[in-house]
Amino acid sequence: MRVAEISLPAIRHNVARIRELTGGAVIVVVKADGYGHGAAIAAGAALAGGATMIATADLEEALSLRENGIAGPILCWLHGVHTDFAAAVAADIEIGVSHSRHLEAVAAAAIAQNKVATVQFKIDTGLSRNGAAPEEWQPLFQRAAELVSAGVLCVRGIFSHLANAGDENDRAQAARFDAAVEMLRAAGVEPEMVHLAASAATMRSPHLHYNTVRVGVAAFGLSPFADTTSAQLGLIPAMTLRSEIVALRGVPAGTGVSYGFNHVCETATTLALVPIGYADGMPRALNGAGAWVTIAGEHRPIVGRIGMDQFIVDVGPLAGRLQLGDPVVLFGDPELGNPPVEIWAGLMRTINYEIIVGIGTRVHRCPVDGAQA
Ligand SMILES: *Cc1c(COP(=O)(O)O)cnc(C)c1O
Repeated sequence: MRVAEISLPAIRHNVARIRELTGGAVIVVVKADGYGHGAAIAAGAALAGGATMIATADLEEALSLRENGIAGPILCWLHGVHTDFAAAVAADIEIGVSHSRHLEAVAAAAIAQNKVATVQFKIDTGLSRNGAAPEEWQPLFQRAAELVSAGVLCVRGIFSHLANAGDENDRAQAARFDAAVEMLRAAGVEPEMVHLAASAATMRSPHLHYNTVRVGVAAFGLSPFADTTSAQLGLIPAMTLRSEIVALRGVPAGTGVSYGFNHVCETATTLALVPIGYADGMPRALNGAGAWVTIAGEHRPIVGRIGMDQFIVDVGPLAGRLQLGDPVVLFGDPELGNPPVEIWAGLMRTINYEIIVGIGTRVHRCPVDGAQA
């Protein structure tokens, strides 16, 4: 009764669109359970759409993809103090290296397993998060060159992440990135993949594409910009959050709805019960904010407080046309008449990313390969 339909054609289309736009390699980021879409579902569709490589934040996420049958190249870059790089090397996961201790740990695992491990350098060019700091670049690249010569490591790439703090800052980060790439080459290592752009720079800044881009949200068909829709970017939202009507009740004027009676029906109407709540990632603060759902092709308001497991829709004049089990779409592709997820994001003063990754584990991820409902 709680379904996140994941359109595989939409993900394939988005990845193909990004490939066409950039002309280079595309790494699709499926961290945080594929931005809530299901990591293995997302990774499979992304590879089918022409992704060159899949990426996650954590090694655990990467290993879980391998266990779920994703055989393509996988990169991960955010490591705990006790992350077991031996497991990464054994499963052929590429490691994003931000520090010499990562490099040494991967090298030790490669030697122990008599394998060549593949790494990419993650460097900080101004975001001030993870990534090697500029003073570490030279010793890190030098040591990597030794390990490459010794047949222990392969350095596949070098990458950095933008702060999205405006064009001038982007250009300053790109200049630092260029200096790092130059330094790596001077150390005798030629990276095959050079990547800086995530979704925002991929969609808007062709001068930052290098030979590879690394996209998350755009592959799922959502816009990284507050002022631009998916359709304007040629993207198709992949997730449709859907439930069903499990009860319908005619009520008289003056009926209070849900906890606290903060909604009282002004006229006689019909209320539909929908079994999704804040435990499923539907923000409780949508209460009274003017959010709506699509039922039978019509927009109808969410009324009363959202519970942990359920909420109420005033279906008003639709009542005669509805029956139990009719689908209720909470968000999806606005081109199909569904509410865009950006409505919730706007009401919650957050970004679409936070809403989709927050969809809970009780919601069944259901890949669909035909037309969306
Ligand atoms: C999450 C992440 C991305 C993807 O970002 P989008 O804005 O979703 O495209 C790319 N690179 C890094 C390092 C990330 O952490």
